[in-house]
Order: sequence, then structure tokens, then C-alpha cells
Amino acid sequence: MHVLVLNAGSSSLKFQLVDPETGARAAHGNVQGLGVGGRSHEEALREVLATLGDVRVDAVGHRVVHGGERFHDATLVDDEVIAAIEAQISLAPLHNPANLMGIRATRALLPGVPQVAVFDTAFHVRMPRRAKTYALDAELAAEHGLRRFGFHGTSFRYVAQLAADHLRAPLELLRIVALHLGNGASACAIEYGHSVETSMGMTPLEGLVMGSRAGDLDPGIVLRLARELGVDEAEALLNQRSGLAGLSGVSNDLRELQRLAAEGDDRARLAINVFAHRARKYVGAYAAVMGGVDAIVLTGGIGENSASMRRRILQRLELFGVRIDEDLNQDAKVGVEQPVFEISEDRARVRTLVVATNEELQIARDTAAVVRGAEEVRQPGPIPIAVSARHVHLNRAAMDVLFGPEAELTPMRPLSQPGQFAAEERVTLVGPRGRIERVRVLGPLRPRCQVEVSRTDEFLLGVDAPVRHSGHVQGSAPITLEGPAGTLHLDEGLICAWRHIHMHPTDAEAFGVKDGDEVEVAITGGVRDLVFGDVSVRVSEKFVLEMHIDTDEANAAELDTGAAGAMLEVYSTPKGGAVGRLEKKRWRG
Ligand code: ADP
Repeated sequence: MHVLVLNAGSSSLKFQLVDPETGARAAHGNVQGLGVGGRSHEEALREVLATLGDVRVDAVGHRVVHGGERFHDATLVDDEVIAAIEAQISLAPLHNPANLMGIRATRALLPGVPQVAVFDTAFHVRMPRRAKTYALDAELAAEHGLRRFGFHGTSFRYVAQLAADHLRAPLELLRIVALHLGNGASACAIEYGHSVETSMGMTPLEGLVMGSRAGDLDPGIVLRLARELGVDEAEALLNQRSGLAGLSGVSNDLRELQRLAAEGDDRARLAINVFAHRARKYVGAYAAVMGGVDAIVLTGGIGENSASMRRRILQRLELFGVRIDEDLNQDAKVGVEQPVFEISEDRARVRTLVVATNEELQIARDTAAVVRGAEEVRQPGPIPIAVSARHVHLNRAAMDVLFGPEAELTPMRPLSQPGQFAAEERVTLVGPRGRIERVRVLGPLRPRCQVEVSRTDEFLLGVDAPVRHSGHVQGSAPITLEGPAGTLHLDEGLICAWRHIHMHPTDAEAFGVKDGDEVEVAITGGVRDLVFGDVSVRVSEKFVLEMHIDTDEANAAELDTGAAGAMLEVYSTPKGGAVGRLEKKRWRG
């Protein structure tokens, strides 16, 4: 599949032809000189298409800067979507009109090719209210739509996922402070996969020091400038002649400032220091916002390339557990081949990563997903719950002892997981204190014996079995089994099953979880509502969606097998950072 990614600006049309699966870039370029007095976006696109030759464009993905409150995700473009983007023009007067010109040009020249709009703001749409609300008259703010939107969302989403992949931890377990430092710059607090704070605000003018934008300043200054220079001049000053350019008086390019600073230019030095100080301030603030931080990610032209700026920003963050290996920092080099480079010391509690962003690839992937209808994957619904009574899994040798040589299990009824069945055969469990008779054997035979009982059963038997995942019987409790043909003592194999959910990969995708994740499951609507924590997620092509609990757990929630729709909510709510979770799992063996 080939996705043409377009970033239409007022005076230029940037394009890339990307394979969303491999990330391979078949073509790229930037047609300049558009707009007033120049060529139209349609002419520019015609040029782009000519350079592509015979390559078929399967879909077009547009970078759209402002999606306002309306757009939460990448969206297939139709008349209604175009009208909605148009309606956001007042929020991004420089960008949205140009983005629309790109969309209209595509409609004219590639009719029938699906188009998808990918919004810079979408990642931040679900920020908590406390983060997106300005302390202004509430009615006035609502009337004028004065709130934080945030930008660079496509980049943040992309680098956060790469960071999680590098750390081999699910994004849902990580608290990340990401710094996108390019000509435009912003910081984002990504808490368990969601943007919960970001430094750009209603417009991309707030927050960090940028190439030519001021970022944070006292609103009193804005008023003073507007009064003395006029609104238009003040706007131009804050957007185009502030930031690094304004501070240094010479350039918005950090490389140039570093060269001047090395020669002793004091204004260039101050510009660099103000930039780093502001960024560090945000890292600390966002760690506090999330109640901790597991990883810091630096990206954008400056974040990816400037070791000295990274060092300046990250110094003094030891209190959070940030420790940078300066050799690694100097060596860090990221690009298409190696997009992630870790610069933290081994013993650092917070992992620090340099990540090469690739917004075009993210847009291409989003576009492909929308076009394929992948966003229509089944919405997560209730999870059926099965209550497992005490039962036994046997291997061939145990079968021989308990039921006679070559004896086979007799399937009685199938279980919900394909291929599994309850057998006619039963055994007796014998413990030091008591016996439990007529315990069902489940088939088919397995490589190892495993006996699963509830805590209450353990009291009857007089044994103490560990809570374990199925199959993890090493070091578990001993138990004796009696069958019609003989008695078998197992040195280990008795467990209390760890509650778990079987899922097909399509279910996992719908719930946004992975094999090995732990989730909380709420049982509501009955007389003994209960939230089960530490529910382990098991994903396999062979599984159908079903949560398995034992009889004690079912009784605690007053449930029966087949309790229809009892399962109302699933959410991955980690209790600690990734590290805490990993340790907890290790401790449980
Ligand atoms: P944009 O936001 O326009 O995409 P970039 O992400 O390309 O911008 O970032 C541009 C910034 O990155 C400039 O300030 C430039 O000086 C800086 N930069 C790029 N390479 C280096 C480098 N090797 N050392 C220091 N700064 C660099």
C-alpha cells in the first residue's frame, strides 16, 4: 500500500509517499512558492503527482493542524468533515485554510482515492479538564472556546510508542515526559498512553521557548505590547521575532547560536540558557503532574541532534532518578535505521531516550488504518464470565496410574475454549486434613499434571497452594489423587488459579491490551458489586473471550457461570509505575 502524506502550508506543499507497513519512503519533496502571486495548491499537487510517475496512490493522509474539540482521531474526509475543519479556521488561521487547500486539490486531482485527515490536536483531546482549562471567566471561556488544545500530537504518539517498544513495557504502564524540540517546541505528559498535559495551549504560541515564538510570558506583557505596538505588530513580534531569534537577535537556528556562544556571544548564550531552563522546568512540572516519571523522551531537530542542549535540559533532574551517561549522550545518533537511542545510565530509575520522530509515517499508518476500517474493530463490550469449579488436568502417565494403562478420557461436554472439554472421569483429592471427592478431570491430556482448587478447598484439604498462572506449577503444593485404578502422589501441581481473561487478538485490540497485561474488571449491577484487580490477560488465536474465576471469587461477587452481562468495565489501571509492576510480578514468581 502507498499512502501519499501531504503537509499543505500556506506557501509550500510537503509530500511523502510512504508504505505504512515497512515505513519505506518511495518519494518525498517540498514544492515551494505557493500562495499569493504564486502557484495554487492544485498546481503544486499536479507537479507532485507527475514526479510519482506510475506509482499508484492508494490513499492520501493530510496533516491538519487544528481539529478543535470535534476530532478525536484520524478521520475519513467527506463533505461534512471538510465543513468541520473549515469551522475550526478561527483557531488556526494560518494553518487550517492551507490544509483545506491540500484536501480540495486532492479531491480534484485524485477523485475516488480515500483521504484521511490526521490532526495535531487529536492526541490531547481527552486531557483532563483541570489541564485544559484556563483560569478565566468560565462563561466567557466557553463562549469563545478559550481552552488548551495542544499540538505536536502526532509526533508525541509516535515517539511514545517507540519508547515503550524500546523499554519492552506496554505504553499503558508508562509515565513519559516527551519534549518535541524543533522550530516549534512543546512538552507533553503522557500518562499510561494518554496526553494529560501539554505546553502548547489554545494556539501553538504558549509553552517552551521556540525558534521564533516566545512561549510562556506574563499576559500583562501581551497587553502592553498590544497597546503600544498595535495588535498585529504584537502578534508578529511574539510569533516571528521572539524565542531564540528574539533573544539572540541573530538567528532562530540553534546550531548558529551554539557557534556564536562558543565564540563568547553573550546574547546567544543567554538564549540557549533560557531555552534549556524553560524545558527543564516543564520536565519537573510534568513529573509532578503524573506523580512520577518512568521515561523522558527527546525528539525534534534539537532533541534528536543537540547533545549539549540535552545535557543542559537534563542536568539537575537527579532528584527524579534521571541519570545521563554523558558518553552515550555525545554518541547518540538517531535516524530511520535506529530511531531510538538510550542515553541513561544503567542504574537510572528514569530512562532517558533520544527518539527520531516521523510524523509522516504515523500519518501514513493512521491513514491506512482508517481506510482499512481498522478503527471499526469491535468496541469492547461485556466480558462473559466462567466460574471454574475445582478441576484436574492430567498427563499420560497420571492417566495410566489413576484409570489404568492406555485409558482415555471420555469427553462429556465441550468447554468454551476450543478443543477443551470436561471429561466423564473424576478423581478424589486427598490432603493431610481432608478429602474432596468426584473432582472433574478436564481434557485433553497435558504434558504436566495440574490441580486447581479454591482457597476454601484448601482449608478442607489442609494444604496451602500458591496463586499461579496455569502451567506454572513449579514449586507449587503437593497433593494426592485417587482414581479407580490407583493412587498418585504429586510433589507439586496444586495451585489456586490466577484469575484471567482469555482473549482472541481481535478482542485484545478492541480492549487495547496485550498478552501479559493485567487489568481490573468491575462486576456491577448485582447485590455484591466488586472490582477484581490483577486480572491477567491471555491472548491467543485459539482463545475466545472469557474471564475465568474460581468459585470463591464468584461467590464473593454473587455470580453464577453465564451471569449475562455481569462484566461491565475493563480498564488497565496500573497502580504504580512500570518498575513497580515488574517487581511485583517477579516477586510473585
Ligand atoms: P521543525 O519544527 O521546523 O520541523 P526541526 O525539528 O527540523 O524543525 O528542528 C529545527 C531545529 O533543530 C533548529 O533549531 C536547528 O538548529 C536544530 N538542529 C538541527 N540539527 C542540529 C544539530 N546538529 N545541533 C543543534 N541543533 C540542531
